[in-house]
Amino acid sequence: MIDIPSPQTTAAAFEDHYARPAAGVWSAPGRVNLIGEHTDYNDGLVFPFAIERRTWAAVAPREDRIIRVRSGAMPDAAEISLDELDPANFEDWSAYVFGVFWAMRERGVSLDGRTGFDILLTSDVPLGAGLSSSAAIECAVAVAVNDLWELGLSRRELIYVCQLAENGAVGAPTGNMDQTASLMGEDGHAVLIDVEAETAVPVPVHFGDEGLSLLVIDTRVHHSHATGGYGERRASCELGARLMGVPTLRKLTEADLERAAEVLDDVTFRRVRHIVTENARVARTAQVVQEEGPHRIGDLLVASHASMRDDFEISCPELDLAVETALAAGAVGARMTGGGFGGAAIALVDESKAAEVSDDVDKAFAAAGYGAPHVFIVTPSQGARRDA
Ligand code: ADP
Ligand code: MG
Repeated sequence: MIDIPSPQTTAAAFEDHYARPAAGVWSAPGRVNLIGEHTDYNDGLVFPFAIERRTWAAVAPREDRIIRVRSGAMPDAAEISLDELDPANFEDWSAYVFGVFWAMRERGVSLDGRTGFDILLTSDVPLGAGLSSSAAIECAVAVAVNDLWELGLSRRELIYVCQLAENGAVGAPTGNMDQTASLMGEDGHAVLIDVEAETAVPVPVHFGDEGLSLLVIDTRVHHSHATGGYGERRASCELGARLMGVPTLRKLTEADLERAAEVLDDVTFRRVRHIVTENARVARTAQVVQEEGPHRIGDLLVASHASMRDDFEISCPELDLAVETALAAGAVGARMTGGGFGGAAIALVDESKAAEVSDDVDKAFAAAGYGAPHVFIVTPSQGARRDA
């Protein structure tokens, strides 16, 4: 429907589709995780940033209780009444939108006397590529509804609303890293999230000031065991915590690993070791990037990748090749990012080497007989906002 979306084109598309003007345009970004993988659902530390790719929502209130939604990414529109909000009634992608309303109600927002909305969505966040188009759509809708219904919900509450939409309405058993990054991101900053403490602190990363670019290498592979693999890793972490006698793995530190090696079977031990060491790497990365600069975080990124490859076992040959090739071409650091079993890797590279790293990865993929990867630069950007 629209090639390069913006607040203006989204408002125009709204008017085309609904034959009336939008009341406003809101947007929320996708995200890339700099470091801290599978730590969020273990009450741990994560360090993602919001990216410049966003999902826009042009919205206008209606006089009845119907919510209608149209997305430029999808062929069919969807609608539901505020009186029929039940995940059992949600279909396909519209669950991400209706789920936000359902989650607001579940968390105590009264729907009595509320009116519905017409919503038109556009996005330049690639869907299902590990950049969290799902959080972008949830958060764009949530900030719009928060404003138009004048709910006054805090960003923290919106994180929980959007996470509940994803967990309860869509049925994805994820933590809240994505929603936190999308709602709390700031230009030039990554967000240091402490899930247990319920804090999200923007930390300047200075990539641009230091002549660095952050490349995303989307392998475009999605291994079929991704969903099952995620659930299995989650279950291993829960088992590890139970056997170690702690409520969550967040309660363990590297000093506990010796005992963990005695108490746990080999596989569970390695899962636990990944989470414990990854939490330490996240904390260290946030400290080093501020005190010594982004050139010094490379080893931490590389160690994170090794831990995911060897201990958590969520990498795959394509991701390993992307990381190895980027490092061989002179990247400061590189690691797979996201849930694993496919998806994307990131590489922190000198601006002057970005093209070369990208070319080398293309060539290495071709030589290995893999499909062409999609390589692009992302910049830490502002979180969810009203645009117009
Ligand atoms: P990711 O969050 O990494 O992009 P997910 O599988 O979590 O991958 O979410 C992708 C799904 O979210 C899509 O398949 C679609 O159902 C929904 N979605 C995301 N963005 C949009 C959009 N702009 N319009 C319609 N549906 C969307
Ligand atoms: Mg997602």
